[in-house]
Amino acid sequence: MLVDGAILDADGPRPAYVRFRHGRVVEVGARGTDSTRGRVRRIRGIVIPSPVNAHTHLGDAVSVREPPPGPVSQLVMPPHGYKFRLLATSSPAAKIAGIRRALHRMERDGVAAVVDFREEGRPGVELLRRAARGSRVRVVALGRPVARPVDAEELRSLLDVADGIGLSSARDEEESTRRRIARACRARGKRFGLHASEAVRESPDRYLDPRPDLLIHLAKATPEDLARVREAGVTVAVCPRSNALFGRQPDLATMERLGIRLLLGTDNAMFHAPSIWRELEFAYVGTRLRKRPVSARYLARAALVEPWRWLGTAGAARIAAESPAVPLVLRLPPDDPEYQVVTRVTEHLIVRPGPVPRRGTS
Ligand SMILES: [Zn+2]
Repeated sequence: MLVDGAILDADGPRPAYVRFRHGRVVEVGARGTDSTRGRVRRIRGIVIPSPVNAHTHLGDAVSVREPPPGPVSQLVMPPHGYKFRLLATSSPAAKIAGIRRALHRMERDGVAAVVDFREEGRPGVELLRRAARGSRVRVVALGRPVARPVDAEELRSLLDVADGIGLSSARDEEESTRRRIARACRARGKRFGLHASEAVRESPDRYLDPRPDLLIHLAKATPEDLARVREAGVTVAVCPRSNALFGRQPDLATMERLGIRLLLGTDNAMFHAPSIWRELEFAYVGTRLRKRPVSARYLARAALVEPWRWLGTAGAARIAAESPAVPLVLRLPPDDPEYQVVTRVTEHLIVRPGPVPRRGTS
């Protein structure tokens, strides 16, 4: 198969043709210069690396509904928020079914990996692993120990099955807890992430020390706070639809101006379909409502490029011969690739050139 149109990847958008064999890229060249006319199936489109959904709580997919009235603190905050009551009263089978539905949706959207914050300790991560068996979506599971103060044995056992730890926020956890968890993650070569400045502004002194690998939200962060995050070189995952549900928005324009490494996630699966394309479109349009527009290029990087770098496999974000990327093709006119990506993608426009490897899509 040959795609004539454009590439949008780690090197930005450019006119190009891409030739595939058995789903892998075997040749890339300047648009209109290929020598295969008439001999292979040709389509017009844009070739992109597969997107990554960089922040979810897939366990929440057990229930999909409108949020009940009340502040976010009563909905999704541990340990007694609506969400945690729901998790506590749902059966493992119901949770697994919900997670499978969500993963299936992501597969249809062409998502190749998801970074999930999985509550409920080691059993929570094991349940997620069980639900993800056979899925084409690579699941990066950041678990959360249950006991406070942290129990050394529980943390060790959790890190045996998790890719790292994802905490609620610095506000919700003692400094000693965060230090202990960050140290354990570092020692095991695993990731440490936490929510920050979601409902109220928190001081960067707290969420940047100990230094996390990933911060979620920063919807209430000031430009000065964001400058500190940039200085610390910490990657940020934003979830604009989730924030909007509670009347907030991350300052994406300032994040872009500062050059913060940005990822995009769909957050609580009970309130939002885990669609990275909807998230992209909302993020793009939403900043215009605030009259502080973010560029499509920055957002496209957040979905298609930066997460692969964060996962340690930056090569998966580059479309080239023999690249480890799992490419998707968007059947669109190539006039303005970035804009098209964030505003026009729907499921039927996605073409998979070939089979997606089960694991290690990088
Ligand atoms: Zn979250």
